[in-house]
Amino acid sequence: MKVPDTPENMEICKRFCGPCPTFQENKLMDIEPHALFCARGPTKKTDCANKGCNCPECEVFKKYGLTGGWFCLHPPKEE
Ligand code: SF4
Ligand code: SF4
Repeated sequence: MKVPDTPENMEICKRFCGPCPTFQENKLMDIEPHALFCARGPTKKTDCANKGCNCPECEVFKKYGLTGGWFCLHPPKEE
């Protein structure tokens, strides 16, 4: 099931992507699509340093049965 791009999901995402070292180190909020990557697709930033991922802890991740993580770097696999 595709994750909806809603304000509610963005609020949840901010709690997990927000403090993520990959998010902070690469300043992903400054570049589209900013966050909620599982719904909006990966960041437009090209040379991202991978520093870890909080997605597996996230309520959106659990609710939509997502697997993997690092959705700022690559989209979730479709079921
Ligand atoms: S699964 Fe990851 S990208 Fe999606 S809302 Fe949660 S923290 Fe954000
Ligand atoms: S998708 Fe995962 S790796 Fe990327 S910023 Fe969010 S929590 Fe971090």
